[in-house]
Amino acid sequence: MGISIKTKKEIDTLREGGKHLASVLRALADAVHPGVTTHELNTLAEKLIKDGGDTPSFLGYAPSGAKRAFPASICVSINEEVVHGIPNEEEKILKEGDIVALDGGLIHKGLFTDSAITVGVGKIDTNAKKLLETTKKALMIGIKAVRAGATTGDVGFAIEQFVKPFGYGIVRDLAGHGVGYAVHEEPFVPNFGKKGEGVVLKAGMVIAIEPMLNEGDAGVKLASDGYTYVTKDGSRSAHFEHTLVVTENGSDILTI
Ligand code: MG
Ligand code: MG
Repeated sequence: MGISIKTKKEIDTLREGGKHLASVLRALADAVHPGVTTHELNTLAEKLIKDGGDTPSFLGYAPSGAKRAFPASICVSINEEVVHGIPNEEEKILKEGDIVALDGGLIHKGLFTDSAITVGVGKIDTNAKKLLETTKKALMIGIKAVRAGATTGDVGFAIEQFVKPFGYGIVRDLAGHGVGYAVHEEPFVPNFGKKGEGVVLKAGMVIAIEPMLNEGDAGVKLASDGYTYVTKDGSRSAHFEHTLVVTENGSDILTI
């Protein structure tokens, strides 16, 4: 399948859905407190998505190679968990000082958006704050590199150059992606790269950019649940993501 160009009407619909998703993530961020379980966050997300007339896109999604479908409506990844954490019933309770990545996706009138934020639970330490701020900035730096004619390599290059002086590990095994008609589409949008390499972006392409930064080394591994990626060295990780549409002179963020 080639890389799809969305119509103006589809982009308007994606923007509507993206607004819904942004408000769901804001409500989830407000609900993050010590003692709250990841399961409670998932239940809230599912309710809010459905109340908005939409469908959670992660629930029942089976990526290629997965042994089972994803069993929840959002991914909740705590501390050394990088992405794709499964919210569950009892084991996972948020505690003061944790950092928690909330990744959501929804289908609005048939079209898919994807966005993630990482927030602190209660008071977090200075290093955690810096990790969160830098990851969020890295996302915005990546978005700034987007315009028709730029490449996915330009985006990755911008993120990598920005992050380098901080010494954080940029996760290389996972990346941003095209989105809109499905949870994941082409192209692959890595958070590292060389200027001018990769896929040339065109106006109307819809992509998700999603840097994942580790306090330590960049290495990640898949946990035994088959979904959760964790840092190899146990260091903490943060994740921010927006869905955006490429325009002639830049991009429009759809998930705000
Ligand atoms: Mg996501
Ligand atoms: Mg994504």
